[in-house]
Amino acid sequence: MDQFYLDNAALYQNLVKRLKPAPPTARPAGKPTEVPSPDMVVSARIRPLLNEDLASGFPCALFLRANQPNVVDIHDLYNHPKGIPILKSFNYEVDRLFGPDATSQEIYDSQVRDLVSFSWDGGVGTLFAYGQTGSGKTTTISGLEKLVVDSLVDSGRPSSCKIYLSIIELAGNSSFDLLSSRKPISILEDSFGVTQLAGIEEHQLIQGEREAAENLIERAASFRRTAPTLKNDASSRSHSICRLRIQRGDDHGTGDGFLYLVDLAGSEAARDVATHGAERMRETREINISLSVLKDCIRGKAQADALAFSSGPKSKQKRPHIPFRQSALTKVLKHVFDPSASASKTKTVVIACVNPSLADVGPSKNTLRYAEMLRVSVPAAVAANNSSKKANSNPTMSVRPSSRDPNPAAASMPFHSRVRPGMVVSYNTTPSGEDLDASGAAGSAQFAVILSPTGTSSRGSTGEDADKNMPSFRGSGARYLCAQVVPAVISGAYEVNMWQQVVVDVRSMEKEVIMEYDIGTRYYYIVD
Ligand code: ADP
Ligand code: MG
Repeated sequence: MDQFYLDNAALYQNLVKRLKPAPPTARPAGKPTEVPSPDMVVSARIRPLLNEDLASGFPCALFLRANQPNVVDIHDLYNHPKGIPILKSFNYEVDRLFGPDATSQEIYDSQVRDLVSFSWDGGVGTLFAYGQTGSGKTTTISGLEKLVVDSLVDSGRPSSCKIYLSIIELAGNSSFDLLSSRKPISILEDSFGVTQLAGIEEHQLIQGEREAAENLIERAASFRRTAPTLKNDASSRSHSICRLRIQRGDDHGTGDGFLYLVDLAGSEAARDVATHGAERMRETREINISLSVLKDCIRGKAQADALAFSSGPKSKQKRPHIPFRQSALTKVLKHVFDPSASASKTKTVVIACVNPSLADVGPSKNTLRYAEMLRVSVPAAVAANNSSKKANSNPTMSVRPSSRDPNPAAASMPFHSRVRPGMVVSYNTTPSGEDLDASGAAGSAQFAVILSPTGTSSRGSTGEDADKNMPSFRGSGARYLCAQVVPAVISGAYEVNMWQQVVVDVRSMEKEVIMEYDIGTRYYYIVD
């Protein structure tokens, strides 16, 4: 195909020159009373043709419309079997289109500034860059990451507001901390169904310290940058997620704000098995599945939000399915997609990145088609209502999953005989060894959530892998691997620290503590 395009480049340019300007397209934009969802903005960025693109001889195939600023035309050349090649034209509409001259600052001003203030208010703002390898995703995300951290550290907010940065890479089912020399981390769901990134390091950004913040961004980029121009380099086969957590001090009484900037894996189709081998094909299929699950989650969440706003929490209408458990990417982004989170808490921007060269016309069409599929229309009244809401207004349900045993009969059994994974317990903190970790201050009341049994300790050290390097607590009954539950910044609230694990003997456990996870504040609370 490439050779066909090159052989006919002059003809292609002639045919394009002779095209009449397309009449404005009337799109089937749903019902007249519907408008694009204000909490889900789909934009596209066409990167410039680079010197190497020009040198390769492929002409430009993407064209902005003068009379419709958010519509892009793609002209493709088809090899007509009976005559000269013919042009076929396609057009795509997005909420906001950025041409080759657009700067990071323009994109920040129109698409990202709102997400940043939304997260300051306790919301979850997310930006995705989607597209084929070489289309400008990393350039776009890195430019915006820098502007985002600059604006956060220059915000002049009180010192009670703390900002934490972490950047991870997801490759298949493995994940790595890009701010910690690509140390492997685990994506775990605790017994409340809350996703925990076990082993991740968060780096605090200090007000006024721009350079330190930018250095962290650059450090993560250098771990990802292996061979950015190759379509099969590591960065094109993995997603990177930059997470900013904004802890707003306890005076606000609501949870942390989050801002996610996601540089997605290249969206290219599975390539020839002969050149890439079965392993690479499997990887590509996995990436394509995760991008497809992402699309379903984004659409499902936008539809669920529209439904919640238009019909209230008691609506009998069927809620859209949001399959966020089907990929590691959407599991990490559970804050964004959890259908039981309150509807006004998330805002999402997708930037579909495209390379304008005729060589990439097929993938560009796929990228823009994907972008169009993400656009969700909502009733105009919902949009007006929704856009006037702040991140921490809470118009709909607040669901509080509990650690209580779902079987009511369990409550009448003695405590030690009904210990089970998922139970939160208080335990006494007299350590059996000297190897108490920094967090396990002896003598204070401590809580933990039970993860799994690890065997018994009656014959001394059992040598199980799970026990290695873990503080363990005295006794001679069954032993359980537990995650510590520690006080959070808000008084009366707790956090589960999956990375602070302890092995606790059942005899050290004092009693069950019933806790509920509050989706509104994202903390755990003790209930009677
Ligand atoms: P991706 O992450 O999608 O694979 P990159 O961001 O690495 O793509 O971009 C591919 C190439 O295009 C790089 O050489 C990059 O410098 C260049 N590029 C991308 N976007 C722009 C832009 N807006 N202006 C100039 N060059 C760009
Ligand atoms: Mg990239």
